[in-house]
Amino acid sequence: MQTSTRNTVLLERSRTAVWHPCTQMKQHETLPIVPIARAQGCWLYDCDGKRYLDAISSWWVNLFGHAEPRINAAIIDQLQRLEHVMLAGFTHEPVVALSERLSALTGGALGHCFYGSDGASATEIALKMSFHFWRNTGRPDKTEFISIAGSYHGETLGALSVTDVALFKDTYAPLLRHSTQVPSPDWRQAAAGVSAHDHALQCAQVLELHLEQHHARTAALIVEPLVQGAAGMAMYDAEYLRQARALCDRYGVHLIVDEIMTGFGRTGTFFAHEQADIKPDFLCLSKGITGGYLPLSVVMTRDNIYQAFYDESVTRGFLHSHSYTGNALACRAALATLDIFKQDDVIAANRGKAQRMTAATKKLAAHPRVRHFRSTGMIWAFEVDSAGPAFSRHFFEAALAHELLLRPISNTVYFMPPYSINDAEIELLATRTLAILEKIS
Ligand SMILES: *Cc1c(COP(=O)(O)O)cnc(C)c1O
Repeated sequence: MQTSTRNTVLLERSRTAVWHPCTQMKQHETLPIVPIARAQGCWLYDCDGKRYLDAISSWWVNLFGHAEPRINAAIIDQLQRLEHVMLAGFTHEPVVALSERLSALTGGALGHCFYGSDGASATEIALKMSFHFWRNTGRPDKTEFISIAGSYHGETLGALSVTDVALFKDTYAPLLRHSTQVPSPDWRQAAAGVSAHDHALQCAQVLELHLEQHHARTAALIVEPLVQGAAGMAMYDAEYLRQARALCDRYGVHLIVDEIMTGFGRTGTFFAHEQADIKPDFLCLSKGITGGYLPLSVVMTRDNIYQAFYDESVTRGFLHSHSYTGNALACRAALATLDIFKQDDVIAANRGKAQRMTAATKKLAAHPRVRHFRSTGMIWAFEVDSAGPAFSRHFFEAALAHELLLRPISNTVYFMPPYSINDAEIELLATRTLAILEKIS
């Protein structure tokens, strides 16, 4: 990629002073860092005014495009009232209103909201709360967690313990608690002739065998519903969630549903777990919750769990905290996000957009090197055959040259665009991705 002086200066300063996430910094000797000066709608603009379609919603957080006027206005309004106050012993309208509205979105089943600042902290909170619930109810032996093969729940030590991505986990193995992984219902792994539904049932049987033997020591099963993001957008049948819910009930184990990526309409329903017609014991939300504006996460849970902490004894309470818990600006951004879902009838509008996207990607799906072309709601993914070891980097660079931000996970290319993507942008994304594929063949 050619870079002008303005771009070059900023990326050199960044290389020196900023330690970038999820990056071997030495690769930036050759791989460019893209200096973004501003953003509008689906487009990011670098310091020279070159543009990139944000086809992965800036790491899965953006919902309605950048600089969305209604979210901007809400944050500015809140800024003039209250930017932040500690949430221990204090409260404010945005955090109360947000908790009430999120609870209503679960049909009132999950009526208690505990806030954190990012996805990993939500996972930590859910794991600790589950364990502490069992301890408070006379079951201190329930200390084990189960997750699904290939799962991703964040990278702090507790969250990494239930994450199953070797690249992130292996180095830190000596620091982590043991957890058990059960087979993934990912339909790409189904045996020949086995449907996604039947594969889900087979995987649920393995889960049952594990629970049968280990339920007495198991606190919770944690799952990414319908789509396992970091595993490479592995998609699975909702039947697995129905089975998992029934098994967790039967064996007295909590079901933690991590909707950090899938929540807020990404899979076609407001929450992915709605497609299985189940309710979790703990629901983790983050990423899209503020429309992609500000860090915020929440763990929602049921009244019976909340009641097990409600006591004269201080230490039976959940003594967990983060400095920015329930930040007022972030909560206002989240409220504005929920307003947009109503005002724009987003879930219904996305159904039309998803159809247009799937139609626009027909040629791509039929390309001889493309395998397992798939979609769930507003996520599309496919594997590229005979991709070399540096495929992801090469594809990323080629995409930038075609005005696209795409960041494959090994040989899996995926689209997770802002919901505000329009027909022309859908067309551009589909045709240019095809061109990139041709080019790096
Ligand atoms: C991104 C993600 C997390 C971690 O969130 P961070 O904000 O990056 O800590 C956890 N679970 C899932 C499913 C995610 O996609």
